[in-house]
Amino acid sequence: MTLSFRRLLACALALPAALSAGAAAHASKEAPVIGFSIDDLRVERWTRDRDYFVQAATALGAKVSVQSANANEARQIAQLENLIAEGVDALVIVPFNSKVLSNVIAKARKSGIKVIAYDRLILGAPLDAYVSFDNVKVGEMQAQGVVDVVPKGNYYLLGGASTDNNARLFREGQMNVLKPLADKGDIKIVGEQWTPEWDPSKAQAIIENALNANDNNIQAIVASNDGTAGGAIQALTSQKLAGKVAVSGQDADLAGVRRVAAGTQTMTIYKPLKSIASTAAQVAVELVQGKQPAFNAKLDNGKGQVNSILLKPTLLTRDNLDILVKDGFYTAEQIAGK
Ligand code: BGC
Repeated sequence: MTLSFRRLLACALALPAALSAGAAAHASKEAPVIGFSIDDLRVERWTRDRDYFVQAATALGAKVSVQSANANEARQIAQLENLIAEGVDALVIVPFNSKVLSNVIAKARKSGIKVIAYDRLILGAPLDAYVSFDNVKVGEMQAQGVVDVVPKGNYYLLGGASTDNNARLFREGQMNVLKPLADKGDIKIVGEQWTPEWDPSKAQAIIENALNANDNNIQAIVASNDGTAGGAIQALTSQKLAGKVAVSGQDADLAGVRRVAAGTQTMTIYKPLKSIASTAAQVAVELVQGKQPAFNAKLDNGKGQVNSILLKPTLLTRDNLDILVKDGFYTAEQIAGK
């Protein structure tokens, strides 16, 4: 190991987001090199995923090179090409666009690189593994959380990014709960839209338009994560409706949790990021070492049945936010905004 490479490696370990360009390719199976390609580190949860992942992988003797595509599919493909050229042993990918990575993944697998989809499934490409939460269940919990407080009324469905397979799974779960109620006439779905790039300001604009089009006659907004819920609640605040309209969320972002505590957001979903990150790190290392991870599901991604591990999400309302403190996700002071 040359001195400059050692320095580079020290930097990469100290600063998880930094690139350890030129990391020791296929160094040894005891010390695999993993490329972690993340859609968008500007979104709160992914920075925590990154930190937990680097921590867990490092503890297993691996080295990690992290890249963020910042919601740009061409950039993500270029970053993956670079990681392949560096000779990583495994790629762990949070795809921006679930449908455009087949060529680059085929190339990785030809070079003997293990490919793992992280949180979001990659479609139409051969994968070695998928590690996520039960995302249909997440959608069911989002709808149920809102139905529990608004069993009748006008509903608006604020979806996530249409490029994200999870957004569709959340919607599928939401409809499992909502369709029977809509069929019975208890609720009426007055509109639905996907939010490009999960962008909170785009979500705000969508809800401003929806309120306008419905003369503010909306009682519930099924938002698919806390970022977009935040945008929706800004739109409600302008109409003095915050706290009067039920709004769902997901991720237990600090701002989201504080809104749940304050009563402007009805619920959020807690997905223990430490578990998904450490599970994915372990799966990556095991696959490189030729071991068989303990899969618990198989998902069809249009190319075949993908060996998967799906973890359990938890529904949080104002009444059980203490789970976050017990689990070490936040301190009580952080939630209280102190
Ligand atoms: C994730 C959510 C996240 C969203 C936006 C989804 O694929 O499952 O946890 O809020 O992407 O980044």
